[in-house]
Amino acid sequence: MNYHKYIPVDVVNGPGTRCTLFVSGCEHQCRGCYNKSTWSLTSGHPFTDLMCEQIMHDLTDTRVPRRGLSLSGGDPLHPANLAGVKLLLQKVAKHAPDKDVWLWSGYTLAELSPEQQAILAYVDVLIDGKFIQSRADPNLVWRGSDNQCVHFLSERAQQWQENQR
Ligand code: SF4
Repeated sequence: MNYHKYIPVDVVNGPGTRCTLFVSGCEHQCRGCYNKSTWSLTSGHPFTDLMCEQIMHDLTDTRVPRRGLSLSGGDPLHPANLAGVKLLLQKVAKHAPDKDVWLWSGYTLAELSPEQQAILAYVDVLIDGKFIQSRADPNLVWRGSDNQCVHFLSERAQQWQENQR
């Protein structure tokens, strides 16, 4: 897996202060994509063990507490990224189980393959669907166009959503 960008302290992509990883590789080719440079699987940098360790270090850094990890791109659920993303999320589940995981994908929940669905076992919130320019709305929270859905998958994510009301 390659990644395009890593933001160790991020307050934009998901709630609270987070670590955010933009992976490389996306096959959706949405018109109006704000991140075209991530489309190629070979763009960016190799996601090394060192990078993985860095993320784990940042996630568990008590000096700047992070609420969780955000995965975007590119598409973290691109078939070529599944192995790398799974490895990273297994580490998060083992060493930082209190951190929530938000994941943005151009695939819809309904069209995920069994291999892609297996990743959701480690994901609290999935924001799914392609970006459709004609349905873009700058007032939307966490999503760019109104066809996209925010799925609160885990129990703690559903609880968090309840508390926002
Ligand atoms: S899914 Fe996201 S990264 Fe991929 S083309 Fe669409 S907007 Fe761009």
